Amino acid sequence: MIGTLDAKIPPGPLDQKWRNHRDHSRLVSPTNRRKFEIIIVGSGLAGGSAAATLGELGYGVKCFCYQDSARRAHSIAAQGGINAAKNYQNDGDSVYRLFYDTIKGGDFRSREANVYRLAEVSSNIIDQCVAQGVPFAREYSGLLANRSFGGAQVSRTFYARGQTGQQLLLGCYQALCRQIAAGTVEMFPQTEMLDLVIVDGHAKGIVSRNLVSGKIDKYAADAVVLATGGYGNVFYLSTNARGCNVTATYRAYKKGALFANPCFTQIHPTCIPVSGEHQSKLTLMSESLRNDGRVWVPKRKEDCDKAPDEIPETERDYYLERKYPSYGNLAPRDISSRAAKEVCDEGRGVGPGGRGVYLDLADAIKRLGERTICERYGNLFEIYEKITGENAYKMPMRIYPAIHYTMGGLWVDYNLMSNLPGLYVIGEANFSDHGANRLGASALMQGLADGYFILPYTLPNYLAGQMSKRPSTDHFEFKKTESDVRAKIENLLKINGKRSLDSIHRELGALLWEKCGMLRNKPGLQEALTKIPELRNEFWNNVHVPGDDEDFNQSLERAGRVADFLEFAELMCIDALARDESCGAHFREEHQTSEGEALRDDENFADVFAWEFQGNGKIAEPKLHREPLHFETVHLTQRSYK
Ligand SMILES: Cc1cc2nc3c(=O)[nH]c(=O)nc-3n(C[C@H](O)[C@H](O)[C@H](O)COP(=O)(O)OP(=O)(O)OC[C@H]3O[C@@H](n4cnc5c(N)ncnc54)[C@H](O)[C@@H]3O)c2cc1C
Repeated sequence: MIGTLDAKIPPGPLDQKWRNHRDHSRLVSPTNRRKFEIIIVGSGLAGGSAAATLGELGYGVKCFCYQDSARRAHSIAAQGGINAAKNYQNDGDSVYRLFYDTIKGGDFRSREANVYRLAEVSSNIIDQCVAQGVPFAREYSGLLANRSFGGAQVSRTFYARGQTGQQLLLGCYQALCRQIAAGTVEMFPQTEMLDLVIVDGHAKGIVSRNLVSGKIDKYAADAVVLATGGYGNVFYLSTNARGCNVTATYRAYKKGALFANPCFTQIHPTCIPVSGEHQSKLTLMSESLRNDGRVWVPKRKEDCDKAPDEIPETERDYYLERKYPSYGNLAPRDISSRAAKEVCDEGRGVGPGGRGVYLDLADAIKRLGERTICERYGNLFEIYEKITGENAYKMPMRIYPAIHYTMGGLWVDYNLMSNLPGLYVIGEANFSDHGANRLGASALMQGLADGYFILPYTLPNYLAGQMSKRPSTDHFEFKKTESDVRAKIENLLKINGKRSLDSIHRELGALLWEKCGMLRNKPGLQEALTKIPELRNEFWNNVHVPGDDEDFNQSLERAGRVADFLEFAELMCIDALARDESCGAHFREEHQTSEGEALRDDENFADVFAWEFQGNGKIAEPKLHREPLHFETVHLTQRSYK
């Protein structure tokens, strides 16, 4: 039974909360640290940085990932950069401004205290990564270079060409390897967590499957940290790596962890448009391109089939610059995505099916030269050419919005602990900092803030009271969880129907995109809520999962993940229906301003929605808990980027 949600926000002025909290948190002495075992599921930037840091502090860490190496976590795909309030550009940035931009960007649906702390520690991240040797871009003078991302009027984004995530992950991976060599971290690659074990109300372990041998194992610990990334792939097509899934967080939800704001999903405006029915993946063209690129469509429908260079300047509609003169092409993602859809719906889209807009770097190439543009974005131009066969130095890119990131995630308090004692959730897997819309370059900042600088302070607070409480894996709860995991696998393998996993997942994704995607409305969400259970029924009666469980079987892996998506999708629609307002990326068509912008209802919905699983293993209507958001520093206003 869950009572009032307590976010455990420390008292005191906003800019002193974190320092005071750290000063008064409990500690674990160096000699006692090695007596504790911590499970970290995930080795992306959040999990990898947490594992390396906790290992360095002397704790015993077991770190799990499903890839063949920690170094292949989805974080490696991050392109554009990482924010920090260093104010190297002397352009007016500050901790407060980064905090304010993030709160406003999230359409006032995140916690002030968490976001302020994020902005505060952002600078430490850059110092840490530079010390690790991350090759951030530099100015001629040798100082670190910056560029801008959406929703900001300053340049605070640090980057390594269009491969920032890869370089940050290499830095983190080196730190992790140091701890593996030192014996503090044990790495379990190709191992998937399939359930969480709760003993006496505390998270005390996991059950996993070795993806090569099929062996099911149980691991006990003093605390469990989930750093398992986002669930964008519930939509089937997204910019996420193919493996990204909701299984770890969803199964923790079924064990009692609250799922917060599951309908807050980010649609990124600059992705390569869908090209056909058989596509399984979408590709991002980083938002950083909007620093130098201008977004436009023809003013007249009749010009849409013409080559772009045949359309004169006077006949082009630079619609972001027109609608949002202050931020122009750097309007936030939710707003830019909807604006792109709007011009395409008007029949002014370009490319096959009219679902595309131009991202044009011609002016910048003229101004700065092709070489400078290549230095800044060379690998993005290469990716674009490989996929489309077009040279974006010679003609504009074509882009369209696509699913990209999930702001929703497991509910956590200020300490990043879920409502289940001992279960911590960090990085994209939690809901903590981005409200209803994440600003570009803030996910890497949050993941690394959580792993390097926040969890190492907040986890000891819990561990200090847990000395000698680690259960044995012979405990009844471990055995029961293991047998539930085995039963689920058996059930998947014996369905032996006719449909492929992909066909069902694709159908789910298309339904969600249509009814719970960029625009949502009540009848559409209700329709989705009748169709999802039908599709789930079809899955459990007619899907075909080949192979067996005692071997490398990627179909079986995927089957478990799709089964979870089929349940989780329903939770997303329930959340979207219950939140009867528009905010950020959650755009309910019933609630818009006269100018077509998201219209919030602060009186009734300035809350985090945190859902509790009901149904004792079966699926029943989840229970809603609300955490009111208190704004003591920021004044709530209608978001404007004009
Ligand atoms: C194409 C692209 C570009 C991006 N560019 C940027 C950018 O420029 N700047 C920015 O700030 N953000 C960017 N983002 C967002 C950012 O990359 C992610 O939000 C961030 O990397 C997530 O990090 P994470 O550590 O939380 O999760 P991930 O990197 O997704 O790592 C998840 C980890 O969990 C493991 N895992 C998951 N489930 C299980 C399980 N059941 N059992 C065992 N292990 C499991 C995985 O193996 C993996 O190790 C981008 C995203 C995309 C898709």
